[in-house]
Amino acid sequence: MKVLKFGGTSVGSAEGVASLITIVKTGRQHHQLVLVVSALSGVTDALAGWLADAPAAVDPDAALRHLYTRHHVLASGVLRRPALRRYEAQLQEMLAQYAPLLTQLSARCPSADLRDAVLAIGERLSAPLVAAALRDAGVPAASQDAAALVRTDSSFGHAVVDTSVTRQQVADWRARLSSDGVPVVTGFIGADAEGRTTTLGRGGSDYSAALLAQALDAHLLERWTDVRGLYTADPAQDTTAQPIQQLDLPDAQALARSGHLGMHPQAFDPLVAGNIPLHVRCTRAPTETGTLVVPVGFTQRITSLAS
Ligand code: ASP
Ligand code: MG
Repeated sequence: MKVLKFGGTSVGSAEGVASLITIVKTGRQHHQLVLVVSALSGVTDALAGWLADAPAAVDPDAALRHLYTRHHVLASGVLRRPALRRYEAQLQEMLAQYAPLLTQLSARCPSADLRDAVLAIGERLSAPLVAAALRDAGVPAASQDAAALVRTDSSFGHAVVDTSVTRQQVADWRARLSSDGVPVVTGFIGADAEGRTTTLGRGGSDYSAALLAQALDAHLLERWTDVRGLYTADPAQDTTAQPIQQLDLPDAQALARSGHLGMHPQAFDPLVAGNIPLHVRCTRAPTETGTLVVPVGFTQRITSLAS
């Protein structure tokens, strides 16, 4: 079992989704796969921007139109007509469901739980689109809301995960999964004991993917991104940033916790706990070796993991 996480840029363009499909088709020849996806690039930023605006400044209709257009343009680039018609209907239905959240936003200063429900919209719209694109390409796939899997406390915005309830919920879910289907799970979100949506902090999809990998006892987590692996600093901002080929999990955990590697500070915790290697790979250059983050004493070669 392999968990594959695709970030916002990897699911945010037609080229990204096309390579995701190829990667999944190749991967499922050898492994059972579970996908974890972020919101399409720019979507969580837009949602967070509306939350930061003065309440009255948010026009719910304009916000809904923005979300519709962002997803519809991408869907038009990746789905053939019958699948596109189905996704359009689904998108309209989902947006009708979320419209009251955006209306509440414009009416009052958002409460912490309303904020998380709004932030979670991005992943809730992206996972069904990725699942539709996979099905249209002949891969049986279904989206799965992580609120049913990842149990957290009620610290909205930076919810703390209850790993034992999560493990049980994931095990129950796994028992109901068909072995050849590919579930596409929303990253970033969970739910508290009352079923209220929570989020794990910005960039939380990496953490979600690691939690699922641990709960599923996956042998590998692959993190697919738009850069060629992990760097010593953010290559977009720092010209001295160096690519990293291989790293030990505890070192990566320490680096991420201190704000390095461009990953959620807790993303490595489940991997360390479960002794699960992470392979960071580039959606635009899938044959490159990327970065391997391995448990101490791990000897398996990158090439055997890359297949
Ligand atoms: N979409 C969320 C964010 O942008 C989670 C993630 O991308 O990991 O923060
Ligand atoms: Mg994102």
